[in-house]
Amino acid sequence: MIDISRFRVPPGQGVDLADHDPRDLADFTGSKAEGKALIRDQSHRLDALQEHLYADGRHRVLLVLQAMDTAGKDSTIRHVFGAVDPIGVRVAPFKKPSERELAHDYLWRVHSQVPGNGEIAIFNRSHYEDVLVVRVRSLVPEESWRKRYDHINDFERLLADEGTTIVKCFLNVSFEEQAERLQARIDRPDKRWKFSSGDLDERKLWPDYMAAYEEAISRTSTDHAPWYVVPADRKWFRNLVVSRILLDTLGGLDLDWPEPEEGIEDIVVV
Ligand code: AMP
Ligand code: MG
Repeated sequence: MIDISRFRVPPGQGVDLADHDPRDLADFTGSKAEGKALIRDQSHRLDALQEHLYADGRHRVLLVLQAMDTAGKDSTIRHVFGAVDPIGVRVAPFKKPSERELAHDYLWRVHSQVPGNGEIAIFNRSHYEDVLVVRVRSLVPEESWRKRYDHINDFERLLADEGTTIVKCFLNVSFEEQAERLQARIDRPDKRWKFSSGDLDERKLWPDYMAAYEEAISRTSTDHAPWYVVPADRKWFRNLVVSRILLDTLGGLDLDWPEPEEGIEDIVVV
């Protein structure tokens, strides 16, 4: 069992990503094959917990996934939720905002995607892009994005107060590993579709992105919406950690089975 608390960023603590090793294995001593078997097993347990969450109908769960390109947000979702009933989870991807989205405040498109009762929502990118790419690319003036850390904390406080359990994962891939993964995309004909030359422009801004992530994570990791910095250079370990975080989160909810109809225990179906 991995102690995930070491990946959790305590509220109010500064974050230096140089101190977070993307190849860290924490206290895990098993092999890669054992790790992978554990992920499959945990995915089935997550499925059972999701059904309980749905039956209980009083809680909402939000998983926020943020990362640099190639860190594996999609692949993490596939592995962690592989055995989970698709009815119970909803993935919301956040791409470049449309004209209609840009005509509203930046949380408008986000709020409409938050989970309802009994539901798990996964944000593949999120409102954090509005203090990440928006900051690095100067898409709005600094005086605008600076205010957003407070907005985001207030927004997440609102969601938590109204019954949403929030966990946020930054998949921490190294600059070197990203080079290998981007190269693999170019080298493999079946992966080329994933590559855009714009990815290399973003890569050139790596230090700016790291600075933006460090500030976002340190200013918005709270007790009710904690950030985890997940080592992501080993795909299987990344999946294992995110899976463990979700199991702990759902396992920590006070889930009940709804009261059955009265008197049905004596019914014999003929
Ligand atoms: P992908 O997740 O690889 O399909 O890429 C989605 C792209 O949309 C990324 O380059 C993001 O940085 C970009 N994106 C997401 N949210 C925003 C936003 N609020 N403003 C500008 N770009 C965004
Ligand atoms: Mg991309």
